[in-house]
Amino acid sequence: MPRFSGKTVIITGSSNGIGRSAALLFAQDGANVTITGRNAERLEETRHLILKSGVSESHLNSVVADVTTSDGQDLLVKSTLDKFGKIHILVNNAGAAVPDATGATGTDQSIDVYHKTLQINLQAVIEMTKKVKPHLMETKGEIVNVSSIVAGPQAQPDFMYYAIAKAALDQYTRSIAIDLIQYGIRVNSVSPGVVATGFTNAMGMPDQASQKFYNFMAAHKECIPALVAGQPEDIANIILFLADRKLSSYIIGQSIVADGGSTLVMGCQVHDIKQMMGL
Ligand code: NDP
Repeated sequence: MPRFSGKTVIITGSSNGIGRSAALLFAQDGANVTITGRNAERLEETRHLILKSGVSESHLNSVVADVTTSDGQDLLVKSTLDKFGKIHILVNNAGAAVPDATGATGTDQSIDVYHKTLQINLQAVIEMTKKVKPHLMETKGEIVNVSSIVAGPQAQPDFMYYAIAKAALDQYTRSIAIDLIQYGIRVNSVSPGVVATGFTNAMGMPDQASQKFYNFMAAHKECIPALVAGQPEDIANIILFLADRKLSSYIIGQSIVADGGSTLVMGCQVHDIKQMMGL
């Protein structure tokens, strides 16, 4: 029997990248999956990909929603319960390094960017967790958060708001892991390094600049010792592992780093990201 048979998963940010890959793997492994994002076209691509892999429509719930809004969060929870009856796993994956429209970096980035960055990378996770908690108490379920190696301890002057949001997320993961284990709910997270997804596009980088960035990173061992940019499946497989109680039941409140060795060297800090991208 597939290992997630009879389990229902909500994966935020599954209209692209890591979330899309996790949705495909969960669905192929028997789960009922709620996929979601703001971009209806890209969400439809995820839906098609999953259906094309042989998964039945009855296992899929596709919801266009902004997860930073209360209405969007409520819709995700309600439509999942309406279609599948229960919620066993919440993957808080949606996230972004919100760009400053003026091109400002560092301390010059606006407070508006700060608020938007914290809203998607931290507040939405907190709100989704609160809303899904009663349903996970019923099923003794799992939460997997998607953090980032930018959480620290190294400084991130170019993306400081994004980095502090992820650092706060790591502390949230640890704290709720202890708060929720009393109800049988397990919480963990994964901290990816560089992964080739829509992430740089969402930062406003065109495809060509994004490709240059990934190529540069993969060509420099001080950036990625494994000399390869991660693929979405590299992270999605860890999400499934952390959501699989049979395999990871004794892991509580931890974050698994998957970064091709980047955090052991962190040499890329000396390079200028705009130069890497040819901008
Ligand atoms: P993508 O840009 O490919 O995917 C991000 C997903 O988040 C999209 O599906 C996007 O959907 C969704 N999203 C963003 N904002 C919102 C919103 N307000 N409401 C609903 N959905 C939203 O990037 P990744 O797959 O790389 O990112 C996934 C996670 O991995 C993020 O948490 C990111 O911080 C983390 N990460 C990524 C790294 C990388 O190198 N790629 C490195 C470290 C961490 P839509 O646009 O349709 O709304």
